Amino acid sequence: MPHDAPTGTRVTVLSGGVGGARFMQGLLQHLAARDPAATVTVVANTADDIWLHGLKVCPDLDTVMYTLGGGIDTARGWGRTDETWHAKEELAAYGVEPTWFGLGDRDLATHLVRTQMLDAGYPLSDVTRALCRRWQPGVELLPMSDDRVETHIVVDDADEPSGQRAIHFQEYWIRLGAQVPARAVVPVGLDAATAAPGVVDAITAADVVVLPPSNPVVSIGTIVGVREIRDALAATPAPVVGLSPIVAGAHVRGMAAQLLTGLGIEVSAAGVAEHYGSRRDGGLLDGWLVDERDAGDVARIEAAGIPCRAVPLMMTDHDATAAMAAAALELVGR
Ligand code: GDP
Ligand code: CA
Repeated sequence: MPHDAPTGTRVTVLSGGVGGARFMQGLLQHLAARDPAATVTVVANTADDIWLHGLKVCPDLDTVMYTLGGGIDTARGWGRTDETWHAKEELAAYGVEPTWFGLGDRDLATHLVRTQMLDAGYPLSDVTRALCRRWQPGVELLPMSDDRVETHIVVDDADEPSGQRAIHFQEYWIRLGAQVPARAVVPVGLDAATAAPGVVDAITAADVVVLPPSNPVVSIGTIVGVREIRDALAATPAPVVGLSPIVAGAHVRGMAAQLLTGLGIEVSAAGVAEHYGSRRDGGLLDGWLVDERDAGDVARIEAAGIPCRAVPLMMTDHDATAAMAAAALELVGR
């Protein structure tokens, strides 16, 4: 009986910036060794995006593109390698706000090209494809949406009549260092946002969907907050497997703990799993990996209807990260 030549696994990853990008380096290494015909589509968070000095900056898209394309500053984890900061210094010398965002000279070129194309009428998904022609990240990189979505964080401010103020997520993270309580997370524009072209198909036609250890609130949370994406995740025949960004009760890097606390979600591998929920009960997950140190959470997570395993989950190098990717695919039979 004739049959099609076997094709590789179609993997779709819903990603934030640094955590997602690092995970995908390991995923790509694993697939290159075990499933070279596999294809990876990345649906990246765009709710961190910000307009600065008239330029559209997309931190998570760029972190994925630079990391997988070999242009990332590996020590910082974001921005371009061999970066200089002359433009930032000149802007500061003019007293132009904001001065807290790390806008490097090389990076600036990306934002100039992006903004020029957006001004010419191209949607962000087309712009991203054009930028990736240079970087060749080895994945198909899609923004979650072509619509403007911006996460704002409500913080205390005694100078405001209400005692509170909403600031852009980047200001919370970079200027305030996430050192003050997050009273609320407001994803402005998310309700009205539609999925970018290709996103729904990437989820419904996937063989497996992976939630890397990205921030559950401001990365994964906003992606799955796009209604069409949430619906596609409910409808897809593919299993959905996630890896905990919380290890031993703490985020490894970033500010997930502050935001989870602000939303009243327990800062633990089990707390995030229960927040996502089992697909059986209308949630997101068919499988969840926790770190070995959280092996005590496995029974509780499985009791919530989510198959779970404890394995090392620290992305210390590409081999360790590739093993995490392999364990995730294996947990859901891929
Ligand atoms: P961002 O957009 O740059 O903040 O990156 P992501 O949202 O993709 O990922 C950030 C999250 O990755 C952080 O909140 C951490 O909880 C998680 N993270 C970072 N490094 C590791 C690691 O080595 N292991 C695990 N399990 N999680 C990590
Ligand atoms: Ca981010």
